Amino acid sequence: MSKGLFRARRVLWMPLDFAWRPPSAEARHCCAEMMSALEFECDQHADPFDCADTVLVYNEPFGEYGIPIRDGGASYLIVSHCPWCGAKLPESARDRWFDAIDAAGLGDVATDALPPEFLTARWRI
Ligand SMILES: [Zn+2]
Ligand SMILES: [Zn+2]
Repeated sequence: MSKGLFRARRVLWMPLDFAWRPPSAEARHCCAEMMSALEFECDQHADPFDCADTVLVYNEPFGEYGIPIRDGGASYLIVSHCPWCGAKLPESARDRWFDAIDAAGLGDVATDALPPEFLTARWRI
C-alpha cells in the first residue's frame, strides 16, 4: 500500500503488548452484521491480522473499528461508519484511554497488569 494512502486513518494496534482478543460481553455494536463480522473463529490463524478472511478488527479499549492492513504488522484503517447498516461509529477513544491510564498513575504498568476494565469498553462507560 502506498504510504500516502489513508494517512489520517492509519493507526497501529495499541497498546503494543495488548494481544488481540474477542470483544467482551460489555461491547455493544450497531447491528448483527457488524457483530458477526467481528466474530473471529479460524482454525488456521490465532490472530485476525494473519487471516485473510478477516475484514474488520475491533480494538475494544479504544472503541476503534478498523480494516486490517496486511503488511505483516498490526495496523488498521479506522472506519467511521458501519459498512453494513451505515451507523456512525463512535469516535476513537485512543487519546482518552492514554489520558485515563496516566491519570490513574498506571502509565508505566504492563498492559496485562492493568485493571481489567481498561482492557474492555468498561473504563469509558
Ligand atoms: Zn484464517
Ligand atoms: Zn452496523
